[in-house]
Amino acid sequence: MHITQSLHAARQRGPDRVATVFGARTRTVAESVSRIARLAGALRSLGVAAGDRVGIYALNSDRYHELLMAVPWADAVVNPVNVRWSLREVAYSLADCRTDVLVVDDAFAAAVPALREHAPNLRTVIFCGEGDLPEGMHSYEELVAAASEVDDARRGGDELYGVFYTGGTTGSPKGVMLSHRACLASAMGSMVTTDMLSRGGVLLHTAPMFHLADIAAWTIGNLTGATHVMVPSFAPAAVLAAIGEHRVTDVLLVPTMIQQLVDAPGAATSELSSLRRVMYGASPISETVLAKARTVLPNARFTQAYGMTELAPVATLLTAADHDDPALTRSCGRPAVHAEVRVVDPDGAEVPRGRVGEIVVRGDHVMSGYWDKPEETATALRGGWLHTGDAGYLDDAGYLFVVDRLKDMVVTGGENVYTAEVENALAKHPAVAQVAVIGVPDANWGERVHAVVVPAPDTKADPDELRDFCREHIANYKLPRSFEFADALPVSGAGKILKRELRKPHWAGAERGVGG
Ligand code: ATP
Ligand code: MG
Repeated sequence: MHITQSLHAARQRGPDRVATVFGARTRTVAESVSRIARLAGALRSLGVAAGDRVGIYALNSDRYHELLMAVPWADAVVNPVNVRWSLREVAYSLADCRTDVLVVDDAFAAAVPALREHAPNLRTVIFCGEGDLPEGMHSYEELVAAASEVDDARRGGDELYGVFYTGGTTGSPKGVMLSHRACLASAMGSMVTTDMLSRGGVLLHTAPMFHLADIAAWTIGNLTGATHVMVPSFAPAAVLAAIGEHRVTDVLLVPTMIQQLVDAPGAATSELSSLRRVMYGASPISETVLAKARTVLPNARFTQAYGMTELAPVATLLTAADHDDPALTRSCGRPAVHAEVRVVDPDGAEVPRGRVGEIVVRGDHVMSGYWDKPEETATALRGGWLHTGDAGYLDDAGYLFVVDRLKDMVVTGGENVYTAEVENALAKHPAVAQVAVIGVPDANWGERVHAVVVPAPDTKADPDELRDFCREHIANYKLPRSFEFADALPVSGAGKILKRELRKPHWAGAERGVGG
C-alpha cells in the first residue's frame, strides 16, 4: 500500500467533501486531488526523477498537504525540513540528504540565497507562499495551473516515502528513512488500537507538519476521511478561534501546547465544544494540566502516544480510558497492535517486569535505516529490533513507563539515577521555574548528580534547602550533590532541553561512560 492510496478512495467516495481549509481557502476532494496530480506533473517536467528528494521548508498550509501527496505521486521522496532549525542546520540537512528541489513559503524564502551557497546541490526552488514571487524561483500556483495531471506512481510497500530528520536532542539530527509501509502501519495500527481520531472529522494542524507526530495524525486523517484545517504555526489565540470557526473535532498537540492553550486568556470563553479528541506525545502530561484541560475542553478524550521518528512514529498508546486511572498518568500506555515492545539489558536479554532497561521495538513501522549512516543504522537496528535509546520499564499489566534517555542517565557509585525522577522532585519546589539534571565527573562516585536550576522570578533558591526538599520525594543516592543556577536552559528546535550542551563544560577532556 502507498501513502497516496487514500486519495483515490476519497475521490470515489466523496469528491465534493471538503479536503482542506487554510484561511479563506477551501478545496474539495476532487479539486485537491486534481491539483496534486498536476503538481506531480509539474515536478516531473522540472526534472524530478524517481527517488529524488524534494525538500519542503514551510509553515503549515493546504499546500503542505498537497506536497506530501504530490511528491510520492511523482515517484519522488519527501524531505520535510524542521522550521525551527538555524540556517546552518537546514543547510546541513539539505546537503546531507542531497536534496536538489526545495519548496519554500514566505517565511523562509529569504533564506534561499544562503542555502544555495551552503547546499550546492540545490538546483530548483519553488515558492509556495502568498506574497510576491522572489527572483529565481518557480511559482507553485503557476506550475499547478500549467501542468497536466499525471498518473499516480503508486509505489508503495518498502519503497521510500520520505527522509525525516530526528529532533537532534542527543546528537546531530539523523535522516530517518521511512517506507510507505512503515508510515501506514503506524497510522493504521494506532487507529485500530484505539479510536484516537474521529471518522470523517475535522482535523486541525497546528503542530508543525514537518514533524512526524503531525504527519502521523495527517495519515490517519487521510484514511478516515478527515477535513484538514491548517493554521501556519501554533498560537493559542489562533487555535482557539479556528476550533470554533471550523467546528474542529480533532487536534494533535504536545503537552506544552496543551498547557498554553488552556491557560490562554480566551480559553474559558471560547466555543470549544466541537473538540472530541486530543492526541499528544513527546512526553507525559502533568496531572494539573490534564485536569485543567478537561474543564476547558469538556467533550475531549485524550490519547497519548510514545514513539520517535525511527518508528514512523508510534510504539505505545495511552488510551482515553487509561487517562481515568491516576496510577497511569506517568505511563505512556501499552503497545499499539502494530508494535512489539520489550525492555532489555545491555546484552539484549529481556529483563523482568518492573525492572528498567532499554526499550526496543519491532514491527512493520520500524525505519529502513538512517540515510547515509550505515554505522548508526547498525547500532540502532539489531536483529530487527530498533534500540530506542530510551530507558524504561513495563509494569505487570504491560504498561510502559519511560524513565529517561539512556544517554542522560547518571551512574553514581554503581547506582543508576534517572534524571527525570530528580527533575520531577525539584520541579515541585516553588523557587524552581525550570530544571535539568545531569551527570558530572566525580572523583569518588564516577559521576555525581548535578542540577541546573532556572529560579522562579523573585525567589531565592538555596542549594541546601532544595536538597532537603528532595529528600521528601527521592532516595538519598539520587539527591543532587551540586547545583548551578542559570537564566535559561539550552533547547533544541523542538523545545527539548539539550543536556549535552549542559554537560559539555563539566566533561571537557573527560570520557563519559554512558555516552553523549
Ligand atoms: P535525536 O534522536 O536526534 O536525539 P529526538 O529523539 O528528540 O532527537 P524525536 O524522534 O522527535 O527526536 O523524539 C523521540 C523521543 O521523544 C523519544 O525517543 C523519547 O525520548 C521522547 N518521547 C516521545 N514520546 C514520548 C512520551 N509519550 N513519553 C516520554 N517520552 C517521549
Ligand atoms: Mg531520538
